[in-house]
Amino acid sequence: MTMKTIGLLGGMSWESTVSYYRALNEGVKAALGGLHSAKLCLYSVDFAEIERLQHVGDWDATAEILCRAARSVEAGGADFLMIGTNTMHKVAPQVAEAVSIPLLHIADATAQRLAGDGIRRVGLLGTRFTMEQDFYKGRIAGAYDIEVLIPDEAQRDLVHEVIYTELCLGQVQETSRQRYLEIIASLRDRGAQAVILGCTEIALLVQQCHTAVPLYDTTAIHAEEAVKWALGDQA
Ligand code: GLU
Repeated sequence: MTMKTIGLLGGMSWESTVSYYRALNEGVKAALGGLHSAKLCLYSVDFAEIERLQHVGDWDATAEILCRAARSVEAGGADFLMIGTNTMHKVAPQVAEAVSIPLLHIADATAQRLAGDGIRRVGLLGTRFTMEQDFYKGRIAGAYDIEVLIPDEAQRDLVHEVIYTELCLGQVQETSRQRYLEIIASLRDRGAQAVILGCTEIALLVQQCHTAVPLYDTTAIHAEEAVKWALGDQA
């Protein structure tokens, strides 16, 4: 068996790239044992540039940065590509277009897992971009026929702020964890069978041990799917 090389676009934020790096290596080690580890080509961006462009709405400029990064990991030998953030999948079509290697889309990996578990109605936590725009929840609802519930406006503001002002800076605060758990409970009360942690830093704050509501951690799911691609023949 030849292991494929994973191309990871990271740094968005680097706090979650650490989680990816660990999960990818642990996944390969669990499958192959011993000293095996993931073959991986990482391009880590400066998140301050990305965050500024996101918040002024210049998504074309963010796409340019990620397209350049994608070409660079392809040239570095990557067999397939992952974008290590939910939000930046807003520009996934342009990034996929920029390279000839396949893109492992985080929403597809997550939705396939939800569908396989029989989840038909799910709550979504993420940045405001991910919760409010269609590139992510539309893909889950459209292609997999899963109804996606999002928090109300005040809750969305809170979830978004905690991501950018705490989690992406490596800060994990108990008060924020409690607020997130209240929001998760309110999504369950509105009929969500499970909640997607649709931002790659949220699992730093909230884990399955904190709630009985089933959580779908997109970082872990994306990394697990990548290990299957690396070891199998999907890509
Ligand atoms: N990592 C986060 C996500 O999964 C947010 C940071 C970003 O805007 O990329 O959406």
